[in-house]
Amino acid sequence: MRHTPGPWFATTENTLPSKGAIEIQSEYGSIAHVYGGECPDDETQPNARLIAAAPEMAVELRERVADCMCQHDSIRHPDGCNQCENGRTLLARIDGP
Ligand SMILES: [Zn+2]
Repeated sequence: MRHTPGPWFATTENTLPSKGAIEIQSEYGSIAHVYGGECPDDETQPNARLIAAAPEMAVELRERVADCMCQHDSIRHPDGCNQCENGRTLLARIDGP
């Protein structure tokens, strides 16, 4: 894991100097500011919550792939199951090159 460890949370308490932004914070400090951009206003807060949940989702995904039952059934799933394949693809996007 190369990203800042979670948990992260979204807050509007300390948005200066980025007035109007939603700040993504961690126990190590500020991670990012989320602006509405071209999204409808009612999507900005959900977008910030989604970003803030990312580290915990990544941890959960790693655990699910590592503990998947297909790991113990090499006859039916010699290359793992579809869920693990999708999970590994997503984890590769998170981990980068
Ligand atoms: Zn699997």
